[in-house]
Amino acid sequence: MHEAGLARAAVAALVDASAGARVRTVVLAIGTGVDIDAAAAAWHGAATGTCLEASHVEWRNAADRLRCFACGCEYDGGRLDPCPSCGGNGIVIAAADELAVVDWMS
Ligand SMILES: [Zn+2]
Repeated sequence: MHEAGLARAAVAALVDASAGARVRTVVLAIGTGVDIDAAAAAWHGAATGTCLEASHVEWRNAADRLRCFACGCEYDGGRLDPCPSCGGNGIVIAAADELAVVDWMS
């Protein structure tokens, strides 16, 4: 499963960053189109047996980078979010990472 590889990579990066100390809270962002249940299951599978096993996980939606068709303004948001400066429609120019670590607290 695709999510499993992403979760394993994120867990490995956090185990490194925390030097194996217990991590109390992890904030994770998932990109558009990623199923949160699948991501959560993958996370729990990857975290089991590590210092992240008992971590509380907060999930956020990662923002895509969009550019407005009308005024060319670039902004962060969801796929259907209107341009903040003119209210026009934007197109995604850089999709958010499918699974990214936003923050963590030990
Ligand atoms: Zn605009």
